[in-house]
Amino acid sequence: MRYLSTRGEPGLPGLGFCDILLEGLAPDGGLFLPASYPRVDAGDLARWRSVLESEGYAGLAFAVLSLFIDDIPEDDLRGICERAYSSGAFSSTDVVPVTEIEGGLWLAHLSGGPTAAFKDMAMQLLGQLFEYELERRGSELNILGATSGDTGSAAEYAMLGLPRVRVFMLTPAGRMTPFQQAQMFSLDDPAIVNIAVDGVFDDCQDLVKAVAGDLPFKQEHSLGAVNSINWARLVAQVVYYVASWLRVTSADDEVVSFCVPTGNFGNICAGHVARMMGLPIETLVLATNENNVLDEFFRTGVYRVRSSAETHATSSPSMDISKASNFERFVFDLLGRDAARVRELFAVQLPRDGYFDLSETPEFAGLAERFGFVSAASTHADRLAHIADVYRRDGIIVDPHTADGIKVARDFVRPGVPMIVTETALPVKFSATIVEAIGIEPDRPAAFDGIEDLPRHVIALPNDANALKALIAART
Ligand SMILES: *Cc1c(COP(=O)(O)O)cnc(C)c1O
Repeated sequence: MRYLSTRGEPGLPGLGFCDILLEGLAPDGGLFLPASYPRVDAGDLARWRSVLESEGYAGLAFAVLSLFIDDIPEDDLRGICERAYSSGAFSSTDVVPVTEIEGGLWLAHLSGGPTAAFKDMAMQLLGQLFEYELERRGSELNILGATSGDTGSAAEYAMLGLPRVRVFMLTPAGRMTPFQQAQMFSLDDPAIVNIAVDGVFDDCQDLVKAVAGDLPFKQEHSLGAVNSINWARLVAQVVYYVASWLRVTSADDEVVSFCVPTGNFGNICAGHVARMMGLPIETLVLATNENNVLDEFFRTGVYRVRSSAETHATSSPSMDISKASNFERFVFDLLGRDAARVRELFAVQLPRDGYFDLSETPEFAGLAERFGFVSAASTHADRLAHIADVYRRDGIIVDPHTADGIKVARDFVRPGVPMIVTETALPVKFSATIVEAIGIEPDRPAAFDGIEDLPRHVIALPNDANALKALIAART
C-alpha cells in the first residue's frame, strides 16, 4: 500500500504507511491518502464477522488495518492492536458496543475510552504505533498541540507511560469545562506537560504554529503533532464502522446508514473510506451544529470557511469549527482524484477568496448518488429536545454532540435500513447541557470519581512563543 498527497503526484517509489505515520501535512501542503482504497467483498465481510466473534475488536482492527499497512510485520501489528484495544483502556470488552433506540436508530458507542470521547478510538492506536516506530528508528518525539477539550486529553491518556513520547499540550486558561480541565491536569507524569496559555484557543494554535514553524527548533527538539489530519487516526476509525456494521447486521449484504456529528470531517471521512472499500453503507448522513460550514457545502456545493468571529460557541463545542481540516480528502475523491484541481481549490481559491463553489459541476450533481452523502444542521433547541426525547423514550442519556446526530438522523432514517448514530462523547463531559435538557446530572463513571479534587499539574504561560520555546527547551 502506497500513499500519495491530495495535491500532487506520489513520490517514486511512493511512501509507505510508516513514512507518513509521524507526519502531518504532505510536503506539498496536501493530505495523505492511499493510492487506491482496498476493496472488500462479501467473503471478506463474512470472515470479519467471525474474526470479531472469535478475536474481538483488536482482532478485527488487525484484519482491517493490515489492508492499509504493509510495512509493519504481521505479529507486530497484531501486538499493537492488542495493546490499543485489549488492554482494558475501554470500559466494554466489546470496545464499541451498539444499542438500539426507538425509530430505527442505533447508537454505536465510541466513547468508552479513557477520556470518554471518540478521539480515544484512534488515539489509543496512534500511541502504540508511535512508540513502535520510534523504537524501530531509535528516536523520540515531543508532541506539541493545542486543545479546546477532547483531543488534548485523548492524546495525553494515549501517550501516558510510553517511554519515547512526551506531550506539551496548550489549553486556553480557564476556558475548558471543569471536568475537561480536571481530566488533563490531574495527570501526574513528567512526560505530560499541561500548559495554560493566557489567551483563547486560537492564540494556543497560533503559538503551536509559530514554534513548529521554526524548523531548526522543531528539528532540534523532535517536535511532532497528533492533528486530526493524521492518516493513522483516520484509518483507525475505519475499524469501528466495520465493527458497528457487523454488530447491527446479521447477513453480509445487509445495508445500513450512518449519521455522524461532524466538526473537522475526521470521523465521517473514515465512514467515507469504509464505504469506498465496499462496506454496505447506503447513506452517510453528516450532522453539524450551528457551525454549518459542511452542511452548507453538501446542500449547495459552496464551501466557505468562516472567520473566528463568525464561529459560534455552542453547546456541542467539539463541533465549533470554522473550516474542516479533513475535507480536502473527500474533495479529492469527489473530483476523481484530480490533484491539480484540488490544489487550485485549496491552495489558490480558498486562501484568495475564502470559498470555492462546485455547485455547477457534474461531480457535485452526482455527489449524493455516488458517495451517499446527505446533510443537515442542528441547533441548541434541537439538542435539548433530542436529549429529552431519547431519555423519555429509551431511558438513555446522550451527550449534546450525539444529540445533534440523533436529530439529523431522524430526518433521514427510512424503514428497513438501520441508521447508526455514532455516539461521540459521554454526557458526563457536558453535564450543564444535560441538566438544562432534563434536569438530571448524568451518571459519572467510577473512573472519573472526584477528579476535580485531585492536585492540578499545569504551567501558566503568557501568550508568547519565546516563553513556550524556553519551556520546551528546558524539558527536552
Ligand atoms: C472531535 C469531536 C467531534 C467532531 O469530530 P470530527 O472528527 O472533528 O468531525 C464530535 N463530537 C465530539 C465529542 C468530539 O470530541
